[in-house]
Amino acid sequence: MLQVPGNFKAGYVALVGRPNVGKSTLLNALLGTKIAITSPKPQTTRHKILGVLTGDDYQMVFLDTPGLIKPQYELQSVMVKAAKTAIADADVVTLMVEAGESPNHMDLEILEQLKPFNKPILLVINKIDLIYKDVLLPLIDSYSKAHTFLDILPISALEADGLSELKQAIRDALPVHPPYYPEDYLTEHSERFFVSEIIREKIFYLYGEEIPYSTTVEIAEFKEKSGRKDYIHAIIYVEKDSQRAILIGKKGQALKRVGSLAREEIEQFLGRPVYLDLWVKVREKWRRKPLAVKQFGYSTNLPK
Ligand code: GDP
Ligand code: MG
Repeated sequence: MLQVPGNFKAGYVALVGRPNVGKSTLLNALLGTKIAITSPKPQTTRHKILGVLTGDDYQMVFLDTPGLIKPQYELQSVMVKAAKTAIADADVVTLMVEAGESPNHMDLEILEQLKPFNKPILLVINKIDLIYKDVLLPLIDSYSKAHTFLDILPISALEADGLSELKQAIRDALPVHPPYYPEDYLTEHSERFFVSEIIREKIFYLYGEEIPYSTTVEIAEFKEKSGRKDYIHAIIYVEKDSQRAILIGKKGQALKRVGSLAREEIEQFLGRPVYLDLWVKVREKWRRKPLAVKQFGYSTNLPK
């Protein structure tokens, strides 16, 4: 364990915002390693993802959350509930918005949803690499009229710009408290969970609108074999036959591409070679069925 100095600060930091603003990218940038999958499509993150950053005199326990949206079906309502439990548990909430000419109305709606929680809120304006610098001051000014934020920090998660200022502001906001986790601790989730997330991420990158949202991945078997490659049997579930056909593609070409991209990253992540066996199955309308959603591991708890 750490030699804990008297001014050691530790606490829970919820990363919230609408889908696609860059929350998972920020978590990965802060931790210096990829623990949360990201994609150009909204609603990639479906679970609360925990990541721990420990410094000499602080420990930040980040909870990356699914974006706050109006749920249309069971899976989304579980996603929103998971985000809300992260907010309720947080010592400080980091609200992320995208830089633009003026505050986005959806971001302001999320701010309204946050207010009843009565938590200190840090406003993070992300993607400043995409805007002209002269829009920034007026933008900060408008946001500061909408709420008394602890601080307002412009950053670029992608280019790791402004991160040390952000860390400093988070540390300032945390209570004096001993660390919750050992100093080299990174995350709560199992290898199995990360493997399924890596496969899901490749599907978000490789397919159009409908397929990624209808997909979930289950690791049916994960066997370490001494002297040989690990064997991973993963089942990709979709909601109908037509989606299954698209996922697999002509002569299995599309699925093969998912498999090779995923395998490469899984091997990098585990640091050892694997044999990845991918199957595609149909579970009709699983996203609308509470039992199926639960069975596939979506809940307000941290995924195991
Ligand atoms: P989340 O839904 O809020 O978790 O967003 P993600 O982290 O998945 O990011 C959504 C998209 O925005 C991805 O394509 C990221 O590469 C991109 N992105 C994230 N941060 C930045 C940034 O600072 N600048 C730019 N240009 N793109 C970013
Ligand atoms: Mg995300």
